[in-house]
Amino acid sequence: MRILLVEDDRDLGPVLALGLRNEAYAVDLAATCAEAEELLCANDFDVACLDLGLPDGDGMDLVRRLATDPHLRRPRRVLVLTARDAVDDRVAGLDAGADDYLVKPFSFRELAARLRALARRADEADALLEAGDLRLDTATHRAWRGERELELTAREFSMLRYLMHRQGEAVSAEELLEHVWDAQADPFTASVRVILSRLRRKLGEPGPIATVTGVGYRLEAS
Ligand code: CA
Repeated sequence: MRILLVEDDRDLGPVLALGLRNEAYAVDLAATCAEAEELLCANDFDVACLDLGLPDGDGMDLVRRLATDPHLRRPRRVLVLTARDAVDDRVAGLDAGADDYLVKPFSFRELAARLRALARRADEADALLEAGDLRLDTATHRAWRGERELELTAREFSMLRYLMHRQGEAVSAEELLEHVWDAQADPFTASVRVILSRLRRKLGEPGPIATVTGVGYRLEAS
C-alpha cells in the first residue's frame, strides 16, 4: 500500500514516515500543498494522510480539489490529520470528501490502526471486480475467466487486481512495481515482465492484457 503523508512539522513528518515504512508501507512525504499536488499529479496513492495547517495553504482546500481537479489523482482513501477538534471542523472535513480524521496529538499506534481500517474498507468497497469475461473476488482471492477458475499465485493475483482496477488505462511497469511489490521487496522491472508473462499464459487467448509500446500494459475491458 502506498501512502502520501502531507505534514509540515519538521520533526513529526519524518518520524511518522519512518514509522509507517517500518509497517511495510511505501510512503511519500510532502511538507507543503505544492509538493503534495506535484505528487498527486504523478502517482496513484492508496491513502493520503493530510495535515490541514500547511505553510502554503489549507489542507482542506486540497481535500476539496481532489474531488474536482482532473489533474489530481484521487487517492482511494483520505485521512485528515488535524489539531482542530471542533465538531464543525470535523464535519467540514468529512463533507469535503475525507474518509476519516484523526485529532492531534495522536499516538502512532492509533494512526497505524486507522490506516489498516481504511485499507480494509477500500478493499471491501471493491471486493468484486469485473472486466469483460474476467471476474475477481478480492475477499476470497479467487479469479475466473468465464466459467474457468484461474490458479494464480499471490503476486499474479495482485497484478491482475491492479490492472483490473485500472482497466482501459495504460499502466507502466514502474506503477506495477509500486503497487504490486511492497516497499520491503527488492524488485526490478524484469520481475514485472516475468510475472506478467505467467499471468498472460494462465489467462489464455484472446489475451486481455495488451502491451502499449513505450508505456506499459493495458487490460482491455472486453
Ligand atoms: Ca501543520
